[in-house]
Amino acid sequence: ELTAFTYGVSHDLKSPSRTALQMVQEGLLSDNGNLTADQREMFEGAIDTLQRMQCLISDLLDYGILVDQKPPEENVDLNTLVEEVLFDLRDRISETDAKVNASRLPIIRGYRSQLRMLMQNFISNGIKYQRDGTPPLVEIKSDKLRGDTVSIRFIDNGCGIPNDQFDKIFGVFPRLHRQDEVHGSGVGLAICKRVAFNHEATITVTSTLGEGSTFEVSFPKGRVR
Ligand code: ADP
Repeated sequence: ELTAFTYGVSHDLKSPSRTALQMVQEGLLSDNGNLTADQREMFEGAIDTLQRMQCLISDLLDYGILVDQKPPEENVDLNTLVEEVLFDLRDRISETDAKVNASRLPIIRGYRSQLRMLMQNFISNGIKYQRDGTPPLVEIKSDKLRGDTVSIRFIDNGCGIPNDQFDKIFGVFPRLHRQDEVHGSGVGLAICKRVAFNHEATITVTSTLGEGSTFEVSFPKGRVR
């Protein structure tokens, strides 16, 4: 019920927030020199806030859709997903001087769009939560079958996560960083957790503050092709 409610509310907020954003943008564009610098700054602040609100709404919608979605399963090549995600993130990668290295990854039987979101969230977080003054480095590695699982590890050299926050970060909206420090909606890892659950996979995290973090997703061998 809570998920259906979340989905309903975020869906209904989408259109008014888009309209409000358009109105403020048009207001600013149609100014012919009457606004003071302070007033322009206020308009720009409103645009920034409304854009952030749209990101939140769209992430919440993604989450709401994911929870129940069971599209037909496919053989999903994770190597192709990495290529697609890196293409989408190319601007961010060049702005931050980031390096993303991926070893050969397996093919997973599952839901393509969900697995893409999982890869996208882990890679973009690895770039986003960088350590001051150090260009981000994200490595994606896969282990051969270990016991009954195959793991994909996302290893970054970023700011790290305090040990006592490991559980908290997988909830909806648990941000450890202030919005003015790092932009985000706080839904990404909740999505990853749900995608893992839908594939009978588990996620573990290890991290050292100031050195980096490793997120490990372990798929059951029945999912690996
Ligand atoms: P968002 O990035 O949109 O805030 P997420 O759900 O992806 O939301 O992450 C939740 C929180 O976990 C982030 O706000 C951040 O504090 C922390 N976090 C996630 N990934 C990393 C990472 N690779 N390194 C450091 N902190 C991270």
